[in-house]
Amino acid sequence: MTTSDPIPRKGLANRFWERKPLSKMTPKEWEALCDGCGKCCLNKLEDAETGQVELTCVACRLLDDSTCHCTQYDIRHQFVPECIVMSPSNIDDHAYWMPQTCAYRLLWEGKPLFNWHPLISGDPNSVHQAGVSIQHRTVSEFEVDEDDWEDYIIEEPA
Ligand code: SF4
Ligand code: SF4
Repeated sequence: MTTSDPIPRKGLANRFWERKPLSKMTPKEWEALCDGCGKCCLNKLEDAETGQVELTCVACRLLDDSTCHCTQYDIRHQFVPECIVMSPSNIDDHAYWMPQTCAYRLLWEGKPLFNWHPLISGDPNSVHQAGVSIQHRTVSEFEVDEDDWEDYIIEEPA
């Protein structure tokens, strides 16, 4: 079933990401790169000494587990001030903790996008059908004490 895509992707040049560096993308192109997997909205645990990042299935309070989208995207900082706004100017600082399949990280690493990316498939559900999103796999951070997040570490769906 194809549902409407909350991320505007119409009117963009064909495979623009293969011809433009991240630093030259327009805001619309930048936003369209998000595949909607929701994995960046899961809480992570970072080892202060080794820098190793572990993913948990404990989701940000604003994440919708069914759609994998933020329920208050435009005003999210009112509720989650620490939510990071990724941009061409700060991706160098954040790519290391982004999911392995995240389009921003892939392009930053010089890798191609996967065929299930909605920009290629034309279907926002293809990220879920490919099994790489966190759809129906999360628990809310309201339900798990932060001291227990270690018990909720998962392998990244990829
Ligand atoms: S991990 Fe990357 S591609 Fe997935 S939802 Fe977050 S920003 Fe978008
Ligand atoms: S505030 Fe929204 S975009 Fe930010 S981590 Fe939470 S669900 Fe994701």
